Amino acid sequence: MINKKNLIFLGAPGAGKGTFSALLLEKYPLVHISTGDILRSEIKNGTELGKQAAALMEKGELVPDNIVAGMVRDRLAKDDCDKGFILDGFPRTVNQADLLEQALQDIGRSLDSVVFFDVEDELILKRLTARISCKDCGEIFNRIFHPPKSENECDKCGGGLFQRPDDSLETAKERLRVFYDNTRPLIDYYAGKGLLLAITETQKELVFQELEKELA
Ligand code: AMP
Repeated sequence: MINKKNLIFLGAPGAGKGTFSALLLEKYPLVHISTGDILRSEIKNGTELGKQAAALMEKGELVPDNIVAGMVRDRLAKDDCDKGFILDGFPRTVNQADLLEQALQDIGRSLDSVVFFDVEDELILKRLTARISCKDCGEIFNRIFHPPKSENECDKCGGGLFQRPDDSLETAKERLRVFYDNTRPLIDYYAGKGLLLAITETQKELVFQELEKELA
């Protein structure tokens, strides 16, 4: 059982934020808020916001703070977030963290814990460039660490698998640089607030065990 339910998942791209959100969601009724997923669905739907975001995302750059913070604020204001929530991939800058704090105050919510998945760069790049996902259900696979049973088909729903364009080696390296420049300062930011929980384990089962223990 976990008692800490209002969570931020922090970490470089490919550190496991999406994977462990999905595993936690299988067991606990939390709301998963991934700014990357929301932006990708805006792009898919051809919205104005999606058009603005697409060019930045293709290059591995960040979408402006006020845009993502507004999206998250609207989502957190919904009643279903009373059950608890995982913010996956947000905040990514200190300014976003400040905007989040303001939003939480306005809405009357607070954070219980900020989980930092601390994974070495070499493993990150290996994971990112081998990552593939299902275009229908979003299930994540990895050609090296978690291959699908049949090469181009999702184990769960049979949908086709694809590589995210921003998971190419060049863009993955740029996203890692963006993480160090913009997001890493959040580790001290949340440590200073006594909210940080760092996980250095990288093996899937052990990470999940540690996560549950720490969030109990
Ligand atoms: P993700 O799926 O979390 O790796 O995000 C994919 C891309 O979406 C990032 O490389 C950014 O271009 C954009 N993005 C997602 N979340 C944020 C955020 N909190 N702030 C700015 N850009 C974001």
